[in-house]
Order: sequence, then C-alpha cells, then structure tokens
Amino acid sequence: MNDWSHSKYRANPSSHDFDIYKSFVSLAIVGQLSSADSILAKRIHRTAVERVAGYLVATQPTPLNPLYRGILLSPPVAPTISTKHSTNRFVSFSEDPAVACWFADASSWMATTVLTKYPNATGWIGKYTPTKPIEILFHWSWKDYLNQNPPSLYDVIQQLAIANGENPSQWVYELQWSLKTQKEVILKPGPQLTLEDVATQNCPPSNVLDKRFRPRPDFVLAPSGLQSYGIPPQQRLNIVDIELPQPFITCPACHQVAVEVVYVLDRARFKVWNCNACGNKSFVQVN
Ligand SMILES: [Zn+2]
Repeated sequence: MNDWSHSKYRANPSSHDFDIYKSFVSLAIVGQLSSADSILAKRIHRTAVERVAGYLVATQPTPLNPLYRGILLSPPVAPTISTKHSTNRFVSFSEDPAVACWFADASSWMATTVLTKYPNATGWIGKYTPTKPIEILFHWSWKDYLNQNPPSLYDVIQQLAIANGENPSQWVYELQWSLKTQKEVILKPGPQLTLEDVATQNCPPSNVLDKRFRPRPDFVLAPSGLQSYGIPPQQRLNIVDIELPQPFITCPACHQVAVEVVYVLDRARFKVWNCNACGNKSFVQVN
C-alpha cells in the first residue's frame, strides 16, 4: 500500500497540486492522521503531494539532519521496527530530540489518550537520518514559503475544519502551535528504526516537556470584574508562561479540584486558572 513511485518529477507542480499538498500537510500536523492518510490513498493525490515535495526539496533545500520519533508501545517491543508497513502512508519525525521525548513520555499530557487504550505502553525513541532528499514529504522550514503563497496552511486547515464539522479556530491554533514548536519532518514510509528506551535518553522531566510543548493560546480575554485594575472586559491579556499543577488545584468558581492549567500573564498582576470542571476562567492576583 505504501507504493511511492520514487520517480523524479521535472514538471513544476500546479496550483491544484499545491492545494492537495497543503491539505495533506496541515491535517498531518494537527494530528488528523487518518484524514491525512486518506488523501495519500488516492494515487493521483499521492503523485501531486510527491510532485510538490520534490519541487520544495529542489527550491527550498534543507540539510539532511538526524530525525527523532517518539512512540509509546505495548510490550513486547522489538529492538528495531520498519516503518515500511506503518498504519499511514507517511511517518512523522522531529529534528528536536525533546519533541520525541515528549511523544515517548508515558507521564506527559500527550500520553493520556494512548495510555487509556494501551495502559502498559512504554516510551521508545527511534532515530533516523535521511540519505536522500526525495525521502522528505514535508520539512518544517518550508512553512513560511507555503504560507506566503495563498491559500496559507491556516486558510486550508480552517476550511477543512468547517468541512469536518470541527472548531476552525481550534484547528488553526493547533496548527500554529505545532509549526512553532515541533520542528516536524514528514517522510515517506520505509526507514528502519532502532528503538531505544526513553529512560536511557537523558530526556527532560515530563512537567518540563509539557510546559514547553503542550499547546496553549497566545492570549486570554479578560472577564468582567477587573475594571478597578484598569483591565476592561474582553481585553486581550497575553500569556507568557504556563504552570501545570500536579495534583490539580481547587477552582475558586466551582470549588472542585479541577484546575490543571494556570496561565501566567504578561505584565498584568494576575494568573488565569483554567477549570476543567466548570470551564470558568478564574483570576488570581499575584504580587
Ligand atoms: Zn471550576
């Protein structure tokens, strides 16, 4: 099923090829893996994606850097795995080893969904350095080039979210965050990966990884009640940092132990507590 042609495309891609390519890339980056894969399932679309990738490799060259892939696997785990027959027709890596650490960290926020399904899963890191540029389908450094030429990746993911009945601003924001933090490189399937136990990889602690990579908005809108501090309702308050309390802390609005994210604001003397239970944002004054 992973029958990439590996032929060289001399013809420049059409704008229709770029549309298909941008849909594939933006879905893959926001983690809509099966939707991204279904684009590649059609040979004509896969050819379009390969034509654009070949064009970008030629016109926006990137060094062939070592890549890292973090995964959670249920035992028994083989020491090497082939990505040739992976679930999807593409394989995601990062140029930043810490991103792979995050995906391989069983205690991270990222792991919650996987561990619900596979409670015994443990973390592994595979390393691979591409030998030929033609292996690359997407490189994070191409984002500015892709966004300069309309439609931007953000326009594309917004339309795809609407078509899928999902929240468009959420998908745009996740795409933005991932492009900013994940240094993602997407390859054609094929590489053989030697797996190493994440515990042997000098990874940063889970809370540090969550703080660095967990998606968060750039700003929150101020609720009413802060006028006496000179903050009108609905004013944008920029978020500069995040705290992830373990265990959760008590919500001042609903009194449940459900606050798992505290946003630290730029300049304002408040932190925003985001409550899981009641959905309210509470403000706590800091000195
Ligand atoms: Zn609450």
